[in-house]
Amino acid sequence: MTDEAPLGPGAEFDMIRAMLERWGPRANGVGDDAAIVHVPRGDVLLASVDTAVETQHFRREWLTPRELGYRAVAAALSDLAAMAARPLGVLVAMTVPDAWLGDVAGIADGIGEAVAAVRTPVLGGNLSAGGELSITTTVLGSAFAPLRRTTARAGDIVYVTGSLGGVAEALRRLEHGGRGEPGGPGGPQRERFAHPTPRLAEARWLAERGATAAIDISDGLLADVRHLAAASRVAIAIDGAAVPCMPGVSHETAQHSGEEYELVVTASAPIDVKEFARLFGLPLTEIGTVSAGEPGVTVDGQRVAASAGYDHFSR
Ligand SMILES: [Mg+2]
Repeated sequence: MTDEAPLGPGAEFDMIRAMLERWGPRANGVGDDAAIVHVPRGDVLLASVDTAVETQHFRREWLTPRELGYRAVAAALSDLAAMAARPLGVLVAMTVPDAWLGDVAGIADGIGEAVAAVRTPVLGGNLSAGGELSITTTVLGSAFAPLRRTTARAGDIVYVTGSLGGVAEALRRLEHGGRGEPGGPGGPQRERFAHPTPRLAEARWLAERGATAAIDISDGLLADVRHLAAASRVAIAIDGAAVPCMPGVSHETAQHSGEEYELVVTASAPIDVKEFARLFGLPLTEIGTVSAGEPGVTVDGQRVAASAGYDHFSR
């Protein structure tokens, strides 16, 4: 199924043509003024946008162009996972400085890898010249009953997918060790930074089994649980020792590591964690409980400060 409109002449269209060639059937509906997206009857449309900017989000020497493209799109897709949505497609807007022109093909390959992994198409995008590389990904998805962060209730159990801390550990090593080739000084945790997996199928499975609320971990477990507690107006108590850590990573690091793209979900009845692990090859771990009371988060009884977690504009 392809729905392309032919593109006109010029250097910009040549770049787009080159990307479309690399994507093949992984792009669909590109070339008209807007993409036409069919939303399953009865579903709501979910939309989210995310930007990865050189120097703010990554340094050039840390990731290959392919990893950069993959990571930008996977991170954006994680917000659809947090809503238990099924992806309908992505739109990618890139600002490309001259120094990066030779890497556009590699970035495009990474974008193609990310959309292929979740079987969703590139629906369109935009290219611009500019001073700093940036990749802005708009993701579209649909769900009949999206999971929200506003709907955790007193009495719920709190779960987290995966094992945390690998991203912070990889970044720590990259900051100290310079370059980050596969197998390089990023260490064994580097893959967690370079190649995050949006937990889309996991989220839909959890929603079908009665999850009440969800958020993805972008700012760090405790910071994102705090967002969840604030949005749901509940108190959340986390058992620090229960937080699943990557090997070689401390609980402290695991609790604050950002850009993990794992999910925190709440549920009013226990979820079969063994079945989850069997299906997805990933742990699902009970880490806390929700109660009524002053909205906020405690770890082992200690209140989590409002400053926990990453904030682009904190000075
Ligand atoms: Mg999010």
